Amino acid sequence: MERTYIMLKPDAVKRGLMGEIISRIERKAFKITNVKMITLNEEILREHYAHLVDKPFFPDMVTYMTSGPVLAMIVEGDDVVKGMRNIMGATKWLEAEAGTIRGDYANSTTENLIHGSDSVENAEIEIKRFFGE
Ligand code: UDP
Ligand code: MG
Repeated sequence: MERTYIMLKPDAVKRGLMGEIISRIERKAFKITNVKMITLNEEILREHYAHLVDKPFFPDMVTYMTSGPVLAMIVEGDDVVKGMRNIMGATKWLEAEAGTIRGDYANSTTENLIHGSDSVENAEIEIKRFFGE
């Protein structure tokens, strides 16, 4: 069964949207198999977002991502990596369609509520990074 790494970001926690987002995952009949609330630090963010460390927005993103706890999850299902990316919506908030999580709730590209792995290979790396074996 395919798995993906999902993380509800600090704005989702602070805004009280965890239940709303979890409901959408459950309505899609994906299975949440593991959850934990953790607070990230810059070191793990440099690893997790290694492709972005040189971007101008990276420092602001670290400030945001370390501003409060996140809800880390493993979600399971057929084609769940792509399926979760579909229900999350596009990275850029203005491109995220209404009916997606980001399309319905985000008005910032940095503070965009949710992380989801972008490939099956990265999902396994990220699950290991945040949940261990
Ligand atoms: N991000 C940002 N500005 C950008 C692009 C990305 O602040 O122009 C942040 C945003 O929080 C995003 C994260 O960096 O979710 C990771 O970017 P990625 O391109 O991997 O997008 P995602 O996979 O989250 O859709
Ligand atoms: Mg990404």
